[in-house]
Amino acid sequence: MLLEVAKHEHTGRTMIIVRCPRCGNPGHLTVHKRTISGPKFKIVHKNGRKATCSIGSTAEGYDELREIHERVRGAEK
Ligand SMILES: [Zn+2]
Repeated sequence: MLLEVAKHEHTGRTMIIVRCPRCGNPGHLTVHKRTISGPKFKIVHKNGRKATCSIGSTAEGYDELREIHERVRGAEK
C-alpha cells in the first residue's frame, strides 16, 4: 500500500504517499483527528480538484495505514 516517502521540497516535512484503500488512487496520508481508539486518517488526492478520503478505525485498510504511519513517523525522530 505504501508507494513513496518523500520530503516536501519547501517545508522539509515527510510526506507519505499511499494507495488509497477506499478509491484506489495514490494520495498523501495525513492524520485528520486523534481519537481514543487511534488516529483517523485522511488521504488527500490531487487529481485536478482536491478530493479527500477519510479512513476511520473501522475502515478497510486502516490497520495497514496506521502501521505505515507509525513506522515512518517513528523513524523521523
Ligand atoms: Zn481515496
